[in-house]
Amino acid sequence: MDMTDLRPSLELRGIRKDFGSFSALGNVDLQVRQGEMLVFLGPSGCGKTTLLRIIAGLESQTAGSVTQNGRDISWLPPEQRDYGIVFQSYALFPNLTVAENVAYGLVNRRAQRAQIQARVAQLLTMIGLPAAAKKYPAQLSGGQQQRIALARALATAPKLLLLDEPLSALDAIERVRLRKEIRSLQQQLGVTTIMVTHDQEEALNMADRIVVMDQGAIEQIGTPQEIYEYPASTFVAGFVGKANVIEAVALGGHVFECGHGLRLVSSAGGDYRAGSAVRLYVRPEDRVTEDLCDSTPNQVVGVAGRIEFLGGICLVECALAELGQTPLTIQFSLNQMYDLNITPGVRIRFALRADRIRVFPQ
Ligand code: ATP
Repeated sequence: MDMTDLRPSLELRGIRKDFGSFSALGNVDLQVRQGEMLVFLGPSGCGKTTLLRIIAGLESQTAGSVTQNGRDISWLPPEQRDYGIVFQSYALFPNLTVAENVAYGLVNRRAQRAQIQARVAQLLTMIGLPAAAKKYPAQLSGGQQQRIALARALATAPKLLLLDEPLSALDAIERVRLRKEIRSLQQQLGVTTIMVTHDQEEALNMADRIVVMDQGAIEQIGTPQEIYEYPASTFVAGFVGKANVIEAVALGGHVFECGHGLRLVSSAGGDYRAGSAVRLYVRPEDRVTEDLCDSTPNQVVGVAGRIEFLGGICLVECALAELGQTPLTIQFSLNQMYDLNITPGVRIRFALRADRIRVFPQ
């Protein structure tokens, strides 16, 4: 069920941040919708954390404004913004019990004792640690501590939940488990959430919408599917998901010459004037899976090289004579690997899907 409300709850306009002469954020405009899970995704240093800290009020912007439900909060101190924040390091108070940690914000607000106890018990049950109340943080695993940090952030029913790489200190299994739990809790409570990550799988998996950032600017905002299937730039196409990049020249009519006689057709890329230099982006799974016949476009023959075994699927580096040194990485299911007898050195004929090859100007 889609829990998001299209009205913006938080709005950033023209946000800029300079650190001395270094510009960390350019001119960022963003509308966060009520109840959505928005994920900032981008490489290290692109400005995700800085943007989150500006939203939290922990960093002041050089220019631009932040409004919450129509109210300008650009200069409101963090403690008055009514946000819950979870950082990468659990940042629990080590000398307080779990219950005291979770109750912290409520005690500060002078809530009644019985009310606090009930709320803490409710939150501990929600995060699956109903018996942890009397423990101290040091007695808990990393994943458990992060669940407590989440409960603490949610205790005061914040307007906005901010998560700064909350899973990156955890091991792989715990990371996947907690990512499901956070997402389901967020949907259940309908709390508007912004999460920072550099992990594309995490972003694709958890977000209602992803904000892809690079060098202090937003490259694209969209649902995980939109970002993956219709990347707006070569940066997004290369950063989210795997892609083979083929330099080519447009011949007109959706046909592209990719060096030494290889011609590929793309119906997904718009019209390019004959002679323009382009880049074709082909994902490993953009292979025709039906049986090939004479009329199937984009048929090629490659020699299998390195094979990356990923369980049910394999990524096969296929060397094409026409493309010289750079092999295409193509995905096959494990069953197809057996059926087609694909091992290093074997010649394979396959076709690339014309409707999936993205074309960008060079
Ligand atoms: P990471 O995933 O590595 O945390 P990020 O996308 O969150 O990266 P930010 O932490 O927002 O990036 O930093 C953006 C840029 O601003 C970086 O180049 C960083 O070095 C710089 N920066 C951040 N904080 C400061 C500061 N207090 N003083 C000077 N430069 C800073």
